[in-house]
Amino acid sequence: MAQGVYTFSPGPAVLPLPVLQQAQRELVALEGIGISPLEMSHRSEWFAQVLEETTANLRRLLRFGEDYTVLYLQGGSRLQFSMVPMNLLRGSKLPADYILTGSWGNKAVVEARREGTVHVAYDGKEHNYRRVPQPDELELSPEAAYVHFTSNETIQGVQFREPPPGGGPLVCDASSDFLSRPIEVDRFGLIYACAQKNAGPAGVTVVIIRNELLDRVPEGLHSMLDYRQHAQAGSLLNTAPVFACWVVLLVTRWLLEEVGSLEAMEQRNRAKAQLLYEVLDQYPDFYIGHADPESRSLMNVTFRLPSEEQTRAFLAEADAQGLKELKGHRSVGGIRASIYNAMPVEGVEKLREFMLQFVKRAAVSR
Ligand SMILES: *Cc1c(COP(=O)(O)O)cnc(C)c1O
Repeated sequence: MAQGVYTFSPGPAVLPLPVLQQAQRELVALEGIGISPLEMSHRSEWFAQVLEETTANLRRLLRFGEDYTVLYLQGGSRLQFSMVPMNLLRGSKLPADYILTGSWGNKAVVEARREGTVHVAYDGKEHNYRRVPQPDELELSPEAAYVHFTSNETIQGVQFREPPPGGGPLVCDASSDFLSRPIEVDRFGLIYACAQKNAGPAGVTVVIIRNELLDRVPEGLHSMLDYRQHAQAGSLLNTAPVFACWVVLLVTRWLLEEVGSLEAMEQRNRAKAQLLYEVLDQYPDFYIGHADPESRSLMNVTFRLPSEEQTRAFLAEADAQGLKELKGHRSVGGIRASIYNAMPVEGVEKLREFMLQFVKRAAVSR
């Protein structure tokens, strides 16, 4: 990111500047080793330490113990849409409950149906995925193989404040709000997150799985799709994405050393989101928010303008001023500002200022 330029991309997304600077400094030769991280073996002692420290840092940040295993996998969160039901639903007599609050949950449920009985416990489609459900709106199975939900729907910009209840282990697609706030890991059976939203570059997906669930994995799965085999191999069944894992380590260090904790990270994220939602609330007829206020995401702020023409002008002018990648997903339209952990408050202030100027100019020219 150059001076004064900010990317609001939904992913791959902004990374902390000190992380990029360290990656640049050590790209050609790791300090004390002399070899590039791009050239390092995944079987090296150095890489064993990268994974060990990353896992230790995740345990400190999210406060979970040895009853959970951390896996570093490839194939993105999309592959988790398949691996979760292959490992936890295949052969089960119980259904898997899916709570659908937006586009990603809908993609996940398609894969689950290939593996067993799926019960949709909630579908927010009728109100166009503007909010997350209240617990009493869920039609949960009394007993489920697992209950899948998406903590933050990246496209719609709706986020759960609290995990939903469920009649089985909670499985969470946390791709776009992982490490953005504290969560009680003990309430979950499995949490997965591709790195490229909040935790690092594309190429690695973090899976945190309760050990008990590893015992439920059916025999006969393909090795690369089998959580138990990945766990037994320490995530080194095949060549790991060494560079991506190293950058995830640097991001966890940044969280611990520069931010301090996930509580502190959440405070920063809340303050940043507030700056933009205030503008939406001030000009509700011009900046038309997609999410209902109680379900607003702290990570992806979604809204549209009264006309397509104004949306195009907004995007072009913002881009010219260094406010990049603000175009919303076509299913929601309009604008999406992704303001993940690493987006500095200065970037959000600059966007807010731009929005205030833009609406005033629009009023004058009317
Ligand atoms: C980005 C995203 C995905 C897809 O991740 P890939 O790594 O591209 O497979 C899935 N779920 C959510 C919530 C996302 O934000």
